[in-house]
Amino acid sequence: MSRFLSGGLSALEAYVPGEQPRDKKYIKLNTNESPYPPPESVVKAIGRTEIEDLRLYSDPECKVLRAAVSEEYGIDRKNIFLSNGSDEILNFAFMAYGDKGAVFPDITYGFYSVFAELYGIKTDVIPLNDDFTLDVNAFCGKNKLVVIANPNAPTGLALELSEIEKIVSSNPDGVVLIDEAYVDFGAQSAYRLTEKYDNLLVVQTFSKSRSMAGARLGFAFADNEIIEDLEKIKYSTNPYNINRLTQLAGTAALKSGGYFKENCRRIADTREYVKKELENMEFTVTASAANFLFAKSDKIRGKELYLKLKEKGILIRHFDKERISEYNRITVGSREEMEAFLKAVREIMEETV
Ligand code: PMP
Repeated sequence: MSRFLSGGLSALEAYVPGEQPRDKKYIKLNTNESPYPPPESVVKAIGRTEIEDLRLYSDPECKVLRAAVSEEYGIDRKNIFLSNGSDEILNFAFMAYGDKGAVFPDITYGFYSVFAELYGIKTDVIPLNDDFTLDVNAFCGKNKLVVIANPNAPTGLALELSEIEKIVSSNPDGVVLIDEAYVDFGAQSAYRLTEKYDNLLVVQTFSKSRSMAGARLGFAFADNEIIEDLEKIKYSTNPYNINRLTQLAGTAALKSGGYFKENCRRIADTREYVKKELENMEFTVTASAANFLFAKSDKIRGKELYLKLKEKGILIRHFDKERISEYNRITVGSREEMEAFLKAVREIMEETV
């Protein structure tokens, strides 16, 4: 840290992304990326001309991409916001709506508390129940910025649409942000409710189900006044936040027919298969609706399993955090990757007893 850093930032603890070691080739099951490449339509969309056009700025309005999102979801363009990854929308939302404080669960996406700290926002952190389910009533009537990941991370547990609606309708004077990074793998999206409630902001991403984490593309649906707020922040920070290639790739990805849905189905099938196999080894595994599993064993410490798998060239995510330190989050990769993972876990468990 330099002696020039502004006072408020010196104590800030930054978000720690999943490790990306380069010392050897790992099976990467630690950052919830897709095991499948983007569709062929994306490969075709980017050629020499598009690369030569990189000398030009990107379209700050993202007209073509916005039209494609509008068509895919049947939501008017004025109710859509596009961003450099969905993290950027979360960032903007905390910046825009944190004045009265922010409410989120104790076990959830780690970036929420970082944004709150960054902007000096008071937080009301509500513990999940012992089984990691969310106490819906505890999130009602807060009238602050309420942030809920659905499905939640790292537990994978999802809320019913009626539960989301209850939270939204009971917080008319606060923005309710539903982070749907993993919604396509088995939960119900709340995006249609943005037509009914002016305080709902639904955030999604191309990073997981659409296989484009490296392109950095997020999007959100909300009442047009919320979209205007987000646009205002974007134009006050980085108007060209989505680069030319990502705009092209995103537009093409939306025109990939059933490819994206088929990948989600394959991942959900693999998830259920791996869940059963882990349960056969007496792991406790949450009922995940996402592209990852959250699991623990009474026979091995969470951190030990993580370290032993890493030695065997398999990366999973361990959180050194109260209540969940015995668990690990395991991204659902391809069937072959998951067979290798299960084989390694079997070996470790045999060595352990
Ligand atoms: N929300 C949740 C719950 C996540 O796990 C992630 C991925 N780390 C994000 C948002 C951000 O995804 P991205 O910025 O790649 O869209």
